[in-house]
Amino acid sequence: MAKKRVVIVGGVAGGATCAARLRRQDEDAEILVLERGPYVSFANCGLPYYVGNVIQEESKLLLAWPSLFRERFDIEVRTRNEVLAIDRTASTVLVRDLETGREYSEPYDALVLSPGASPIRPPWPGIDLPGIFTLRTIPDSREIRHWIDEKKTRNAVVVGGGFIGLEMAENLAHRGIAVTIVELANQVMPPLDPDMAEYAKQRLESRGVTLALADAVSKFGQRSKGGLSVHTKSGETYNADLVVLAIGVRPETALARAAGLELGERGGIRVDRQMRTSDPRIWAVGDAVEVRNRVTGQWELIPLAGPANRQGRVAADVICGLDAHFDGVLATAVCGFFGLTVALTGATEKSLRRAGMADFESIYLHPGHHVGYYPGAQTIHLKLLFRKSDGLVLGAQAVGEEGVARRIDVIATAIQMKATVFDLEEVELCYAPQYGAAKDPVNMAGMIAANVVRNDAQIAPWNELDSTGAFLLDVRQPSEFDAGSIPGSVNIPLGQMRSRLGELPTDREIWINCGVGQRAYYACRILSQHGLQARNLSGGYSTYRVFHS
Ligand code: FAD
Repeated sequence: MAKKRVVIVGGVAGGATCAARLRRQDEDAEILVLERGPYVSFANCGLPYYVGNVIQEESKLLLAWPSLFRERFDIEVRTRNEVLAIDRTASTVLVRDLETGREYSEPYDALVLSPGASPIRPPWPGIDLPGIFTLRTIPDSREIRHWIDEKKTRNAVVVGGGFIGLEMAENLAHRGIAVTIVELANQVMPPLDPDMAEYAKQRLESRGVTLALADAVSKFGQRSKGGLSVHTKSGETYNADLVVLAIGVRPETALARAAGLELGERGGIRVDRQMRTSDPRIWAVGDAVEVRNRVTGQWELIPLAGPANRQGRVAADVICGLDAHFDGVLATAVCGFFGLTVALTGATEKSLRRAGMADFESIYLHPGHHVGYYPGAQTIHLKLLFRKSDGLVLGAQAVGEEGVARRIDVIATAIQMKATVFDLEEVELCYAPQYGAAKDPVNMAGMIAANVVRNDAQIAPWNELDSTGAFLLDVRQPSEFDAGSIPGSVNIPLGQMRSRLGELPTDREIWINCGVGQRAYYACRILSQHGLQARNLSGGYSTYRVFHS
């Protein structure tokens, strides 16, 4: 039988994974990887840290190289070879060798597209001035490093306050550069809910990063004394020796579009559960494809390394005749900057509303990452979203200095397994004083949410606080209340609650807050059992402060 010939376009996360998996499944296949750039299988995710000199040697960014693919896997990799077109009738791709300019065609039995996504570079006036960079490849990061060293960069503007923008901000600051972030949204990290993004904002500001939120670049100019000026729609001007554009990426679909492959509503290549495009002999994976969100069911573009790797593996298995499938994403992501970790998984309040899903509730909690009596406990700010009718876990966001990623990973696994808040209550996680608590933050989140689903303790909606006619009750100690409280709230410490029930109204709801939500929950239980209509302001005064900062 003739050997199967698989051609792969793009040799980094999705493409390289696919190639290696193919070989493991089929020792006879001919596998050819065509990569436009000078490297295959490099660590895009490490690039900001190379700019920041945290990773000091460029070679550390290379995870594999053509000779290794040949020797270890018998895979042919041609770098600096760009695929220009797909001829679906002839089952060939047209390739240009970028070193020699020679064009040639290569036949395929199966074709895998993993061309990734390119950084967005809008046609703003001045966008092509020297000193304005995007970051996608090793040469990009090398150029930025070189620019910083050569120009003795002191000020930088990062356009875009998402994951890559914030990683760049930290790494530039690490090089002693003053950073301004210009962000179109009125929050940093737009995938997060605004309340959770507030912690990130506070950390950036406390570390000297200037934030220009709800603003947008209108044009760039060249200053007479050297350097750039960044003009924004609000009329501000920021001087910068360096500008990094981090305003998102656009799936590379030119090849697929020209070949007549189906594209989706979000502009990515449309694939089925087997990563097959509308042509049964062509697969597509990674940043270039649209994926279904497992929670909302919506098509999304999720440019993350984990899904790209898993999709590459699925495509390889299917090409080799196995019944593999990719069932969507949770968009589980983590980002660290200035000592803070921000992570999320599944749906956010924003994405649920966008998807028209109204049956959900959110709770907040602020536990330590390990028990308080062991030195060094750091607060984790955690928001959990769940279906109110049955407790199905829908999403979580967490911010803190320690233990954040671990909790989000547990919840991501739970969502994937279609767990409920009752499962989170029960989940048995490892515990010793320096690692966690006998009631881990994940258990605590499950318990608080389960109380809501069981109707043991109702949650008051934070976003209605300013307009509510409810009686606002603060059950903290007077010293805590005096240091700051919700305007209009009345202080009755938890310890006096049973003896002062007569001071509480019976004809309207009572919304209760404490420091982080625990004492308010106890108060809720006392009041409910006395026939009063009590609700907990979830997360207490700690949550209030981020909503009203
Ligand atoms: P890529 O890895 O981008 O590979 C696509 C390759 O295809 C490119 O090398 C390109 O040159 C090549 N190509 C394109 N067109 C052609 C053509 N016509 N012919 C030949 N070759 C072609 N994700 C995370 O999960 N966590 C992180 O911390 C993280 N950090 C990141 C930091 C940065 C700075 C960047 C840029 C990305 C980061 N990502 C991160 C995203 C992650 O790197 C991508 O999701 C992942 O690499 C996508 O894999 P891919 O195979 O689809 O595309």
